[in-house]
Amino acid sequence: MYPDSIKELIESFKFLPGIGEKTAERLAFSVLEMDEDQVELFSSSLKDVYTNVHKCKNCNTLTDQDLCFVCSDTLRDDNILCVVEDSKSVFLFEKLGVFSGKYHVLDGLISPLDGINPEDIGLSNLLDRIHNEKFEEIIFAFKPSIEGETTALYIKKILEDLDIKITRLASGVPIGADMEYVDSLT
Ligand code: ZN
Repeated sequence: MYPDSIKELIESFKFLPGIGEKTAERLAFSVLEMDEDQVELFSSSLKDVYTNVHKCKNCNTLTDQDLCFVCSDTLRDDNILCVVEDSKSVFLFEKLGVFSGKYHVLDGLISPLDGINPEDIGLSNLLDRIHNEKFEEIIFAFKPSIEGETTALYIKKILEDLDIKITRLASGVPIGADMEYVDSLT
């Protein structure tokens, strides 16, 4: 019933998490209301993130530069490293403005039930950094979960002979917290 171009746009919106048929239709029709500049920006930004965004070669945070905005900021406290499970956490903490040290982003958390083992989450890069950059304190800031617990304990064990203070963020970020949650706080 829909013209092919509209049908294709609806199907594209359905790639997004949490978007079903009804919402996809509504979004597609709102695109039809946009002016040409907005459509141009919308389509080029989709292409841009795909082409330009990659992981920071130092800390693994998503960036469109060689080094991310944290790694390239010389004013940050380089004695403290905050280890997180994804780039979203970095953007979240930065938005909250609660941390002034450096970050390291793992490729997820250890989850044996899902077949994700210690060698799958990029630990060697983290350990290299810890050895090279001589941090005084390492903070694990994972969302509360069994996987977060397991991962923190695993890394802690590897580091136990080093003279580094290791802390866990007491409650972490609430489960399911995301940018919308932060927006509601700020
Ligand atoms: Zn970085």
